[in-house]
Amino acid sequence: MNALNLIILGAPGAGKGTQADRVVHTRGIPKISTGDILREAVAAGTEVGRLAKAIVDRGELVPDDVVIGIVKERLTRKDARSGFVLDGFPRTVTQARALDQMMNGHSPLVVIDIKVPEDVLVRRLLTRMVCESCGATAGGIDGGAAPPACRKCGGRLVQRSDDNKGVVLERLSVYLRQTKPLVEYYSPRPTFRSVDGTQPPDRVAADLDAAIEAARL
Ligand SMILES: [Zn+2]
Repeated sequence: MNALNLIILGAPGAGKGTQADRVVHTRGIPKISTGDILREAVAAGTEVGRLAKAIVDRGELVPDDVVIGIVKERLTRKDARSGFVLDGFPRTVTQARALDQMMNGHSPLVVIDIKVPEDVLVRRLLTRMVCESCGATAGGIDGGAAPPACRKCGGRLVQRSDDNKGVVLERLSVYLRQTKPLVEYYSPRPTFRSVDGTQPPDRVAADLDAAIEAARL
């Protein structure tokens, strides 16, 4: 079987993280997260890490060329040969074009868009419980039943504060604005599929797996 080179698109609240983690576990391929790589680089104090930290400290977004360089390096490592799931990349059409160049001679990218209408996303994000201690999110009304305590640290789960809600809605609107051109960029391809993200997580998982297999035929 060819390598599975997968991008899952989906807004905050669409369940993208859950599905990406599941694919990583069931298929034994690495998740390549630009956020994680940047955090590690900052912690390790590498040149890229120092550069990224300075940019983020100024409240700016890490520029395309830096993020592209990080992904390019990561994709050359051995564990990415059998496939990967990209997380947080590409975010812009410039990044998507650069990724296409990196994919020259590799299995085609499979792109799955987990579609959830905006009003459903807003409801999910605002009803989602958060951990009082570590800030981790737990399932809300639409995302499945919330557990009694934080899965990560055992802390108490509470509703988001209003301040926090504003931040969440801003993040969603930024995401939707950024992602629309990306969906337009990928959707004409035969390896692009959409799945209905309003279903329960196990149904989304089944549709996602079917979409991956259909896209790879
Ligand atoms: Zn916690």
